[in-house]
Amino acid sequence: MKFVLPLLLLISGFAHAYKPEVGHSKILPLAHKLLQTCNLSAGTFYSKSDIKIMTKASAGMDSGEVDFSPETGKNPFSIWSRIMNWHFYNKDMPSGETFLWLFEKSYKNTWMLLAQGYKQTKNNTHKLTYLGGMAHFIEDMANPAHVIPAFHMIGIKDGIDDFEPDHETLTKRINGQYLCNTLNKATINSDPISIRNWSVEQTYKELEKRIPHCPDLKWGDFYDKAKKGQFFGDFHTNPTRAPSIHNDQKYTSKTFYIGDKGKLVSNTDSNLVCDFKDNDPRYIKFITQLFENAIIADALLLISQQPFLSNKL
Ligand SMILES: [Zn+2]
Repeated sequence: MKFVLPLLLLISGFAHAYKPEVGHSKILPLAHKLLQTCNLSAGTFYSKSDIKIMTKASAGMDSGEVDFSPETGKNPFSIWSRIMNWHFYNKDMPSGETFLWLFEKSYKNTWMLLAQGYKQTKNNTHKLTYLGGMAHFIEDMANPAHVIPAFHMIGIKDGIDDFEPDHETLTKRINGQYLCNTLNKATINSDPISIRNWSVEQTYKELEKRIPHCPDLKWGDFYDKAKKGQFFGDFHTNPTRAPSIHNDQKYTSKTFYIGDKGKLVSNTDSNLVCDFKDNDPRYIKFITQLFENAIIADALLLISQQPFLSNKL
């Protein structure tokens, strides 16, 4: 048991990794709002308290704080499950990979328990809780560091955690009709895993986009892809030692994170350089887009699962 305590301390840091005020506790309610804006039946089908149950499950997935006893089998919400199963995804290694033969780097086992429980239970609160757990992973997939994936946790930043999205822009887009088209156009099927895949693909698409004012570099240049046969990629390492500044601290490491000030230098051609200034507005725009994608993904999840919850009332 000796090694468990430091692990628990470590894990408690996961809870803060995605700031609660900007992360998992905000996304489902905004998705619900979006469904209402777009006049979709799911907007009225799910009650506020349904969304609350789901949001609690989603936000609690990182901290193991969901008070939940499954009817059968293991509890995917337990702190133990959180310690043993990490939240990364590598699409070339769908069967995941373990670290020290103990820790599963992907969330495949947790997802399996959620999906099974969701299918089997007749209890409506349990159903929504399982669904909220799946929403957590769908939301995680909107963060590039989860799908490159690049290892991060407490003490190891992911660049994106330090940001608040631009709430004003988001609210405007959710309350306007801007996103309804995207919702209507997305082809999804009834399995929540298809929404997970949609979210992953969306993030890959964002990474392919060119960085404004530095068109030779794309957002994906902030990461180094996983080598063949390896689960983890990494945060980008500048090939030359260009200093970067993060939260006013000068880093001597060559790693250059989203949010840093300084020069991003391409791996493939060291002549390709992009200058980022302090609080660069391009970062906020990019992160707001990722956040918006997570909201749309959750909205799609809610739409797709409506038929399976139709007996609830
Ligand atoms: Zn997570």
